[in-house]
Amino acid sequence: MTETSVTVWNEYVHERESDIVADVYPDGIHETLATALERRGFETRTATLEEPEHGLPPAVLDETDVLTWWGHAAHDEVADEVVERVTSHVLDGMGLVVLHSGHFSKVFRSLMGTTCRLKWREAAERERLWVVEPSHPVAAGIDECIELEEAEMYGERFDVPQPETLVFNSWFEGGEVFRSGCCYRRGNGKVFYFRPGHETYPVYHDEEIQRVIANAVEWAAPVDDMASSTGGNTDPREQIETDDDRTVH
Ligand code: ZN
Repeated sequence: MTETSVTVWNEYVHERESDIVADVYPDGIHETLATALERRGFETRTATLEEPEHGLPPAVLDETDVLTWWGHAAHDEVADEVVERVTSHVLDGMGLVVLHSGHFSKVFRSLMGTTCRLKWREAAERERLWVVEPSHPVAAGIDECIELEEAEMYGERFDVPQPETLVFNSWFEGGEVFRSGCCYRRGNGKVFYFRPGHETYPVYHDEEIQRVIANAVEWAAPVDDMASSTGGNTDPREQIETDDDRTVH
């Protein structure tokens, strides 16, 4: 099948500090996601905040086609150097799938250039993620909507740039709506933001949610034979006079 190489990043804080969270994700959210992706044929590895360089040294990112990102309690503890490394890999073509509270990560905010603020509420309420772009590869195999019995509410306005493609739009029992599946391109890299996934709800054990994340990884993977462009001063392809005495050296 696919040989897409995925690095699943998780700050891995709540699972070790809260029994409630540990009951839902005993080995951490990253292990649940990595196992789900592995089952679907991806080559996966995991990385967490506490590892040296947060598990994301240059050698790891060089071998990563798509990085998935989950963080919540420790966004500020992610070293700026690593943030810059990740964003520059995205600009060079590495895919990025940002999950749930990763909306406030340094990596996502820096790639969006906006505050990424949103409304939220923890009331274990029902969510329907409506597929608004059924032909998009990220929605492959998903019915008209995904129903989650218990979700944290995220509400508009979500302060992000207008997505290139909006794949999912959420409705919440309490009345709010939210753009839950947003596609972006930054440089040569594809970025997908996917909303579901609060740490105290078993959302990442849901088959449909796993399917969307796998679809997103597949979609965000870099194109194999991407044209290279080095930039800079360049010789003309056609014969033209290249002297221009107004050029300042
Ligand atoms: Zn949450």
